[in-house]
Amino acid sequence: MNLQPNRTNDRFDGVIEDMTTAEVKEMLTFLADAGVSNISFTGGEPLLREDICEIVAFAAGLEAVNAFEDTDGVSLRRSRPSLYMNTNGALSTSEFLKVCLECGLRLTVSLPGLRTYQELTAGGDARKALGAMEAASAMGVQVTAAITITRINEHELVETIAAALLAGADSILLNRFLAGGRGLGKISELSLDVDQVKRMLLIADEVLHTAGRYGRMGTEVPACLIAGLQFRNLTVGTRCSAALHFVAIDPSGYVRVCNHSPVRLCHYTDIDSVWQHPLWQAYTRRSLLPTSCSGCHSRPDCDAGCREAARLVSGDPMVDDPCLLFDAQLADMNQGNRRSI
Ligand code: SF4
Ligand code: SF4
Repeated sequence: MNLQPNRTNDRFDGVIEDMTTAEVKEMLTFLADAGVSNISFTGGEPLLREDICEIVAFAAGLEAVNAFEDTDGVSLRRSRPSLYMNTNGALSTSEFLKVCLECGLRLTVSLPGLRTYQELTAGGDARKALGAMEAASAMGVQVTAAITITRINEHELVETIAAALLAGADSILLNRFLAGGRGLGKISELSLDVDQVKRMLLIADEVLHTAGRYGRMGTEVPACLIAGLQFRNLTVGTRCSAALHFVAIDPSGYVRVCNHSPVRLCHYTDIDSVWQHPLWQAYTRRSLLPTSCSGCHSRPDCDAGCREAARLVSGDPMVDDPCLLFDAQLADMNQGNRRSI
């Protein structure tokens, strides 16, 4: 197999094109050979690729190779990768769901609100997302509902979780708004303050507990924000996993610390060079905590929210999470003093 960097998708004008079907398969094989055993297809919207069923079926047929050690020494273990996909569900078809079932792919369907769905998705229809969950569940495909909470849709969190569970979602992935792309211009409009985040977590936990279901918070929060709060059915993380537990590979084959980061570290075929990149080093060494956290005894278990959002918004990854509004930030915004972004 040719694992040389394929630069045919780097056009002379700097535009980097998506990988072809053959290139995606080559990349997936490379990852499985390197021991990657969890593969999540995300976007944008992965169902926009016409070859998505072919790609999923190919990934399901791979074997991830990992070395493990026991009393008999070191040996190799081969296992089928676990497959996941994040989608808005609008283009889901029975043919696609059949492939999901055959390949054991777990679907995560985005549901940012009910009555607010159209506003938050620029014209989308929540009924399509709920319909995709119903169809997947009816066919036996495991489905999670991903609910991103913003200042606009937080008032309908109970109804949104209830609708997702009634549509067949067996778990909930809760996220808070993180600025990036077009969202950079809407931070004050969409970001939650710390009290709203606490309320969101407690409400979600209560609904999940009542329904006998489980969920997790996908967007990390500072440990001091949840100090003293108890969750029964919701798992809430305080550590950023970027570069340490997963990486993102974009549609053109470039590695990023996570899918929220726009920084291309290297092409996946040059993965050995990634250690030299300053951003990779910063994430793997966890050297980006805000200076305001110095001396905190929770530092080993906390990354103070999203460092990439801080870097994207202010250019400085070592400031407070800009998408988690503290009292001082709210006061600044109310006085119109917030720096322009
Ligand atoms: S490290 Fe910072 S954000 Fe985390 S608990 Fe300590 S003070 Fe809070
Ligand atoms: S950088 Fe931010 S979005 Fe990316 S994994 Fe870490 S907390 Fe999550």
